[in-house]
Amino acid sequence: MSKADDEMACQQLVELVTDYFDGCLALPERLRFEAHLAACTGCRAYLEQKRQTLGVLAKISERTISPEARERLLSVYRAWMVQQN
Ligand SMILES: [Zn+2]
Repeated sequence: MSKADDEMACQQLVELVTDYFDGCLALPERLRFEAHLAACTGCRAYLEQKRQTLGVLAKISERTISPEARERLLSVYRAWMVQQN
C-alpha cells in the first residue's frame, strides 16, 4: 500500500548531498542515502555531477590559475562543447 517510512525520496537526497560530502550525515541517514543511490540512476548521476563541480571548485580555490593555464582550460572546454553538438 504505502511506501516504507525509511525510504528516501530524491528530493531528500538532494538536500543531504552537501552534508554527505562533508561527512556530516549520521550513520542511519548515510545508509539510507547510499541505499537510495544504489537504486536510483538519476541521483547517482546527480551526485557524480555535484562531486565533480565541488572538486573543480576546490582545486580552483587552492591556487590562482595563471592566465595561460586558464586560456588553455577554456579552449579544452570549448572543444569539448563542440564535440557534444
Ligand atoms: Zn533518486
